[in-house]
Amino acid sequence: MESSGEGGDHAFAYQLMEMLAIPVYVLDASCRVMLWNRACEHLTGMRAAEVLGTREHWRSFFDRQRPTLADLVVQDRAGEVPLIHPRGNHGQPAHLSAESWFDMPRVGRRRYLALDASPIYDERGRLAAVIQTLRDLTDEKMAQIALEQLATRDGLTGLANRRCFDDTLQAEWTRALRQRQPLSLLMVDVDNFKAYNDANGHLGGDECLKRIATAVSSEMRANDLVARYGGEEFAVILPNQSLKGAACVAERIRTRVEQLQVPSRQGGGALVTVSIGAATALPSSDTEASELVAIADAALYRAKHMGRNRISLPLSEPT
Ligand code: GH3
Ligand code: MG
Ligand code: MG
Repeated sequence: MESSGEGGDHAFAYQLMEMLAIPVYVLDASCRVMLWNRACEHLTGMRAAEVLGTREHWRSFFDRQRPTLADLVVQDRAGEVPLIHPRGNHGQPAHLSAESWFDMPRVGRRRYLALDASPIYDERGRLAAVIQTLRDLTDEKMAQIALEQLATRDGLTGLANRRCFDDTLQAEWTRALRQRQPLSLLMVDVDNFKAYNDANGHLGGDECLKRIATAVSSEMRANDLVARYGGEEFAVILPNQSLKGAACVAERIRTRVEQLQVPSRQGGGALVTVSIGAATALPSSDTEASELVAIADAALYRAKHMGRNRISLPLSEPT
């Protein structure tokens, strides 16, 4: 093959970049766009003609002006990566990589992109340009979110599932131990639910559980967790909540369910209600989270025994 000389090599290299299926753009040492390939046009909805020679490339990704990863490499601002991309890698100052959601104003749809920005030096070791590649991982990220959702959510009620409850209780126990704060737990059990199912069918029972789940969730603060513990039983984790506070939340949940006014039997006057057992602990190194569950369970049992549709506290305060 005939050599086309340095100019020809240059043109060929340019052509390669242009036609590469991976979105790529290149900034010069003053953060102006030198190259914006077709895949990049396609991904961002920004035409090369609009952006070449400008510093307007950020408009492809953000609603307001922010440096892109390539800008941070040019400006030697690797330390700012974590501020903009919490999942960024700033271990190697020369090469930066990060993953984030981007607004993508031109295409009007958020995308999850993996970015790599690498410096290119001239023969005297001066920064000549920075090449940034972008990989669209939106589909993979959505699949991952859906899987996480499946793994942690209860299919019927949309609440946290038992596994998520167990993990969260353990994490909150450890945190309460570290911060020397109390941790409270409520066990909420639907009264006479077997009879409700018998009267309304299993599907009717499922609808009722969903309504109760919504009612219980409506009483939660941001850091509380309500989970479907199993069957017709819910568990509520109340971080940094005293027994008195937990009793207040329990009473609000009990009232809220009663106010749903779901008849427990067709034609009858009785309503669907819940019984709730509360427990509070100040975690110490020789106690375990499971003890909190046992105390709340025992309190729930007493609430049932005393006639249902009521809340019950532990017999003695934990030490
Ligand atoms: P108690 O007041 O003592 O709690 O009485 P109960 O009838 O609620 O208690 P029991 O444990 O005897 O029955 C619980 C019932 O909850 C039986 C079961 O069929 C029903 N149940 C559990 N999970 C589901 C569910 O996902 N959907 C429906 N529809 N029913 C469920
Ligand atoms: Mg029950
Ligand atoms: Mg039960």
